[in-house]
Amino acid sequence: MLKFKVTILGSGSAVPTRDRNPTAQLINLHNTYILADCAEGTQLCLRENSIRLQKVDYILISHLHGDHFYGLPGLISTLHLLGRSKPITIFGPPGLEKAVMGMVEISRSNLRYPLRFVETQTEHKELIIEHSTFEIYSFPLLHKVPTTGFLFEEKPKKRLYRPEIGEDFGIPHYWIDRIKQGQDYIDEEGNRILNRLLTKDPEPPKSYAFCTDTAYYPKIATFIQDVDVIYHEASFLVEDKKRALETRHSTSQDAAQIAMLCNARKLVIGHFSARYNNLQPFLEEAKPFFNNVVLAYDGMVINV
Ligand SMILES: [Zn+2]
Repeated sequence: MLKFKVTILGSGSAVPTRDRNPTAQLINLHNTYILADCAEGTQLCLRENSIRLQKVDYILISHLHGDHFYGLPGLISTLHLLGRSKPITIFGPPGLEKAVMGMVEISRSNLRYPLRFVETQTEHKELIIEHSTFEIYSFPLLHKVPTTGFLFEEKPKKRLYRPEIGEDFGIPHYWIDRIKQGQDYIDEEGNRILNRLLTKDPEPPKSYAFCTDTAYYPKIATFIQDVDVIYHEASFLVEDKKRALETRHSTSQDAAQIAMLCNARKLVIGHFSARYNNLQPFLEEAKPFFNNVVLAYDGMVINV
């Protein structure tokens, strides 16, 4: 079965702590490796999680606050030193290329591999990566600077062929792929055997949404309706709601309400402010609104 796995590399917010690094995640989507945000220390986090740095194919940056992209110059330089030749594409808000390439150029590094930047926008949901078996979208979030979330979505899978039935009808091998695509079988005499007799339903396509940083923003539900797993920031508890509003972050209760509006299957909350030592209240505040919620931690692996 094709993999769809998320590794949380950093689950903290602005300030790194002993237990939590700032934001970064690695998504293995059918053996394409996508890094979502790249805070300071991300290359070390990849190493600690036994993920080869050269595996990264794409990097997506949500916004230009340091705790989401200050790890980029270091990672770009390390990939060069390790002899990378494979291209890498980085998606992020306007200004990212200038900020990162300024660092690369001032250190006179002539990168050995092609580095390409693609700007994201915060006007509407947009398809940014299309692959034969999945799609990745950016969509607007509500924060102090232009910010996008990212939606990772499998395309509908091929129907599952039932070889025992195929054998009964003497279906030749070269027909099998067409049947998996949904075609009826027609033999040499023109007899038709319906596709639904020869196949069964595949697993429904899965999806994962990365939503950080953002204030409470119900419009998210229109972008990622029926998502399987949503990662949503929960920087604060309700007692610090004022601080959340000022800094355009969410409380745990906000995150739970968004998950409910999205009709999500599971909610993972993270980006906890370093001011809290005990995170249990985050769960207690979320559960009345959305019961299937867990706290993110560094090194957590989510099988979507
Ligand atoms: Zn931010």
